[in-house]
Amino acid sequence: MPPFVSRLAVVALVGSLTSCSLLPGDDDPDVERDRTGAGPVGDSRAITDEDLDAVEDLLEVRAAALVSGQRRRFMATLDPGNPALRRKQRVLFDNLQKLPIDKLYYGLDVSRSRTRVGTDVDARFSPRVYEHLELGTVFTRPVSNRVSMRFVQRDGRWLVAGERFDEDDAPQERPWFGGPIEAALGDDVLVVTDEGADVGAEELLDSTLDALAETAAVLDEPDDQALLVDATTNGRPVRLSRASGQDAGAVTFTVLATDREGDDVEGPAGTVVKANPEYVTQLVDDDRTLRHELVHVLLAEYGETNPLWVTEGIAEYVAYQPLLLARSVATDDRLVEAIDDRRVALTSADDWGKDPELDYLSAQAFAEYLISRSGLVTYREMMDLFDERGRRRDVSRGRGLVPGVLREVYGLTPAEVAEGGFELLRGLDR
Ligand SMILES: [Zn+2]
Repeated sequence: MPPFVSRLAVVALVGSLTSCSLLPGDDDPDVERDRTGAGPVGDSRAITDEDLDAVEDLLEVRAAALVSGQRRRFMATLDPGNPALRRKQRVLFDNLQKLPIDKLYYGLDVSRSRTRVGTDVDARFSPRVYEHLELGTVFTRPVSNRVSMRFVQRDGRWLVAGERFDEDDAPQERPWFGGPIEAALGDDVLVVTDEGADVGAEELLDSTLDALAETAAVLDEPDDQALLVDATTNGRPVRLSRASGQDAGAVTFTVLATDREGDDVEGPAGTVVKANPEYVTQLVDDDRTLRHELVHVLLAEYGETNPLWVTEGIAEYVAYQPLLLARSVATDDRLVEAIDDRRVALTSADDWGKDPELDYLSAQAFAEYLISRSGLVTYREMMDLFDERGRRRDVSRGRGLVPGVLREVYGLTPAEVAEGGFELLRGLDR
């Protein structure tokens, strides 16, 4: 078994971008929340079109300064009376200088709040801000992140007064905001780690490129995959800890691009492997987890339509290559007992995750059974058929499709595949 369990979370973040359920207020207790939309006409506390133009201009200057590396121009967009903000924003500036940025722009959504608080000389405003960052060839579209920003008017001029990580409405993927980072770029793979981490960005990049080449070779896929590997402690810990208490070494997900105001998803921007920063040393010492995640990256198109035992099974099978369960021995009596106690069946989507260790191990066994019987090409035919039927019938994770697909591709029943896999698992007890 892997030292920790990996999992797939493809497009799990769509909801956070499309639903936009949160109000624009933030932790500032004196920010008024306006649930009624734009302030009433003639309300002296409403943000005027002039104010909005000024804030938009400010963000344009900020973006241009960040892209062109003009530190003083960037710092001039910040509230001068807030040293903590200025310190944090300097880190953001430095972090972005390390990344291959093509373009950066911001969108303002003021459809829910145009309320200002404070006096005329010290007015504050917290609209929704979307940051759109184009990262060279790492992503195909800009990655769009909702950011929690606050603006203040000082002597008639609008400035950035605050930017913070919002746990409740976290951005999709934004490792450049937080502590200082280290970055390394190779081909179309960008790796970011915390500055001074035990495993640096260059080392993790080397491991990732090696694992990518090996994984692509086994799957007979091209290895010119674009990818962001984020092993920083910045941002949300991407639910790396499972309900069962087991930690994931890494997760793979797709990030999305939206329109400027964050209303509509325009499409996938790219793929991210978020590595658990606590396990990066293990990740490079033993690349099985990396290989597992890279299988998900290379076969991302099947993530929603195929049963989990199929996608996780192939990920584990390839991660362990050339090691086979058929030639392995369990060294753990507890595992042998757990296998004996386990119901002999393919794991349904609803049951997946109740016993992660056996879910992954049995998925690997089902994959190995099918691949040793008819090869990897046939396994991919099965994945294609799940994909085609899943899309046609609009069902996810192969729900209701398993008996038909197995019969057509292999001439087998689900019970026969389950039995074939469990025979391999029982063979571990020698
Ligand atoms: Zn996985």
